[in-house]
Amino acid sequence: MKYFIKIFGCQMNHSDAERISSYLEKLGIKESKADLPAEALAKAGLIVFVTCGVRQSAEDRVYGQINNIRKKYADKLVVLTGCLAHRKDVQRRLKGKVDLFTSINDFPKEINKLFQNSKFKIQNSSCDKNTKDYLNIKPHYANKHTAYIPIMTGCDNFCAYCVVPYARGREYSRPSEDILKEVKGLVKNGYKEIMLLGQNANSYSSLEINFPKLLQQIENISGKFWLTFLTSHPKDVSDELIETIAKSKKICEYISLPAQSGDNEILRRMNRKYTIEHYKNLIKKIRKAFLRLNLKNFQGLALKIQPTISTDIIVGFPGETKKRFENTAKLLKEIKFDMAYVAQYSPRPETAAWKMKDNVSRSEKERREKVLTKMLEKTALANNKKYVGKIVEVLIDKKSPLVPLFQRGKPGLSPFRKGGVGGGFKYLAHTRTQKKVIFHSTKKIPVGEFVKVKIIKAKPFGLEGKLL
Ligand code: SAH
Ligand code: SF4
Repeated sequence: MKYFIKIFGCQMNHSDAERISSYLEKLGIKESKADLPAEALAKAGLIVFVTCGVRQSAEDRVYGQINNIRKKYADKLVVLTGCLAHRKDVQRRLKGKVDLFTSINDFPKEINKLFQNSKFKIQNSSCDKNTKDYLNIKPHYANKHTAYIPIMTGCDNFCAYCVVPYARGREYSRPSEDILKEVKGLVKNGYKEIMLLGQNANSYSSLEINFPKLLQQIENISGKFWLTFLTSHPKDVSDELIETIAKSKKICEYISLPAQSGDNEILRRMNRKYTIEHYKNLIKKIRKAFLRLNLKNFQGLALKIQPTISTDIIVGFPGETKKRFENTAKLLKEIKFDMAYVAQYSPRPETAAWKMKDNVSRSEKERREKVLTKMLEKTALANNKKYVGKIVEVLIDKKSPLVPLFQRGKPGLSPFRKGGVGGGFKYLAHTRTQKKVIFHSTKKIPVGEFVKVKIIKAKPFGLEGKLL
């Protein structure tokens, strides 16, 4: 039997899927592979949905896909895990279509039980003994040079709109020794980028180790690698964290700091526990900390380039009047974000805001989303233009061969067209600041290498460079 995993949502779900995948392989089940995902799915006997419950649209896609699978295939095992698995209404809606609903924590135990009771036999059903804690499962990393490492799961913050505390339970931080062991192993095996994951990475706390101390311990691991973390809650960004960032050589100049709104009354209703003044002050301190780092450690490289600041915004939260929305627009104008994930408010069962009146119309939510997206494009482009002419180090993520111009019969076409060999390669890479960079070269460089490029063109969400 083969398995196919369908992942929805955030990096944490992608990281969970890496553990699910390695657990299934240990049971003797292999991944179903094919050129097209639909073919791979058709050949699989077991389909695992790693679901996201943050917005209704993500939920609806899961219903649609499971219904389609059941229309075509009656005999496949379908497992649903992730943020929808615990919901009774979801279980009722998908009754008879899903063979197992399980939280990610119980996945190893529950999948074994499922196989015991099904006609499918597995080679090794006893390998759950050391995996009581699913985070201890050695993952099957999807990428060979960038690795996601969950450092904590769950959330205790109960923001009024959010399902995470219900879906993932209370905050749990992994022991620091386990995290350090995982990072050391990865660096030894040539990994170049470590991304620490947590719903609130900066509220990490295990025994005497808080988040800045954990970062410092990872920093002390020898070897060249980039270190990034997602996501930070503005109420938990301490001066100790900012100082650690400022001193570090490995922590990259990138921060994901969701503001959610630029209006104090909406922040209060959202139960975010900070004011917009606090948020803006943090951004000021973070920019300063990272700038010092650039000046100290990267003379000549990315000198004076600002850190990338990414945020999440919800538009149309209950009670968001036009005036209150304008405060969010003001925030975007003032901070000049590089990235903002703007979402229209979607009422979620179980949450505190579920009982509030969803009183901003859909068309108004759409309008607000568009306003912010347009503003973001402008600020992101202005920030990216500062890279033009600068030399930056990038990590190569992907490469594809190019067709030489003279073979195409259409001179003047983009040199980035895919095709045969002889025309060099198109490379996709990214900077320490998580800016995507495209460049092409006749040189054959392996994916996962660090190289230096000179930036020649800026777009709102990407850069074009030239290999040095
Ligand atoms: N821990 C992070 C966010 C995790 S959820 C934080 O504290 O900010 C990821 C993002 O999904 C959130 O930042 C929010 O912008 C969005 N989101 C969560 N619930 C939502 C809802 N009910 N409607 C719309 N967007 C939502
Ligand atoms: Fe959700 Fe708030 Fe927790 Fe983030 S901090 S995961 S938004 S409850």
